[in-house]
Amino acid sequence: MINLTNLHKSYTKIKVLKGIDLFFDHEGIIAILGPNGSGKTTLIKSILGMVIPDRGDIQLNGDSVLHKWDYRNNISYMPQIASFPQNLKVEELIKMIKNLRRQETKEAELIQLFQLKPFLDKKLGILSGGTRQKVNIVLTFMFDSPFVILDEPTTGLDPVALISLKQILREEKKNGKTILITTHIMNLVEEIADQVVFLLDGNIYFNGTVNELKEQTQHDNLEHAIAEILKESYV
Ligand code: ADP
Repeated sequence: MINLTNLHKSYTKIKVLKGIDLFFDHEGIIAILGPNGSGKTTLIKSILGMVIPDRGDIQLNGDSVLHKWDYRNNISYMPQIASFPQNLKVEELIKMIKNLRRQETKEAELIQLFQLKPFLDKKLGILSGGTRQKVNIVLTFMFDSPFVILDEPTTGLDPVALISLKQILREEKKNGKTILITTHIMNLVEEIADQVVFLLDGNIYFNGTVNELKEQTQHDNLEHAIAEILKESYV
């Protein structure tokens, strides 16, 4: 269970989050949407303790996480841009991250799924963006955490890898996980999201299912539904 109450965050002059209330109490895939700069990453980083909110509370399974760190063992996080050490080999990085958590891991099946075996002895610095993203996915899903947070996970993925990512997301949902995901790929949202949270201007503009969003905007196409909200907000 993730519970955000009255979350505020400003950076110098910009108010990014203006009193966000959110409650996720079941397994499923929640898409956090919003235009660039609407605070999606700030929201995610607040849950992870990488950004300290000015006001409000964040609870995981009933306990406040503010100024704590050990709760992060329950979260798998995939950052938007993974800055890997360039000289490290893929297999060395996987081993290093495994040693940090000392939990049981399932990297072997993920390496197979994303066909990463030929790259295990390659240095991260020479990999293509898409291959680096696949490594990023392996590092995220190899641990069995109840909460998974993914910031733009599809960047650079080829269609085969995208299908594999969707497969993992569905499996992880079946395993009872709560998965938060930010993306600009509306097809992905339409296909896999159980809930959509749309951030606009520091507030939650919409919180519901894809179908409810379509009904509210009277658009059958999700991309057009989102565009409708944005157009309304410009008026
Ligand atoms: P999104 O993920 O929706 O694109 P962000 O949360 O990254 O939005 O950013 C929201 C706003 O906060 C943007 O205007 C961004 O420039 C600003 N911002 C984000 N991080 C910082 C920071 N560390 N210092 C100052 N401004 C920041």
